[in-house]
Amino acid sequence: MDALIPPSCLLCGAPGSVVCRPCWRALPWLEGCCQLCALPLASGDCCPQCLKQPPPFRASLCLWQYQFPIDRLIRGFKFQQQRAAATLLGRQLGLAFSQSLAQRPLGDWPQALVAVPSHWRRRLLLGQQHSYILARQLARQSGLPLLPALAKIKPSHSQRGLSRRQRQRNLAGSLALRRPVAGAGIVLVDDVMTTTSTARAASQVLLDGGAAWVEVACLARTPELHDQSRQG
Ligand SMILES: [Zn+2]
Ligand SMILES: [Zn+2]
Repeated sequence: MDALIPPSCLLCGAPGSVVCRPCWRALPWLEGCCQLCALPLASGDCCPQCLKQPPPFRASLCLWQYQFPIDRLIRGFKFQQQRAAATLLGRQLGLAFSQSLAQRPLGDWPQALVAVPSHWRRRLLLGQQHSYILARQLARQSGLPLLPALAKIKPSHSQRGLSRRQRQRNLAGSLALRRPVAGAGIVLVDDVMTTTSTARAASQVLLDGGAAWVEVACLARTPELHDQSRQG
């Protein structure tokens, strides 16, 4: 594995590590954010949209704001298949996830991790199973099982010009439940959460299948509100 890790910082080129210490510290760590959808917030812990219409998932764990230079690392992970970036970011999310579990009573632990089917977004036809790679990392670090509960059964049509309700139906209709989830607390794993429509649709499919609750774990969150035309 070490042979695959480049000997210099992916961001500044300094020798010695995949991301050097100064670059790591300077990453856009997500601090104040909505407890439900992880939208970056200057104050408070719930964004106006979630107050008005809470998402079907009950919380989100997210590490970074999706902006420079974390976008470069994630793009590298997704599109150039940079294993070193994937491993680094996945490990950090796995660490944060395991720490968050350790602070919860056992009765409130999830029963399984589920990766968002990765070819939801057409651009990912070019990429690898990024959400699955992340979910596998979280499973390894937390000891929770990774359940292949969601399958993509048809391509989601373009979301452009559709109302929120139509978008939701469009996305949810492209997914099928492949494993029983009745009664289970589920953590849905994705790389970047943009509008939350993907996470909402996937959560709804799991809840319709009887899941007790759904939470989201992702690497980064864009600073967008929920209901815009971009998919994700
Ligand atoms: Zn650096
Ligand atoms: Zn929110």
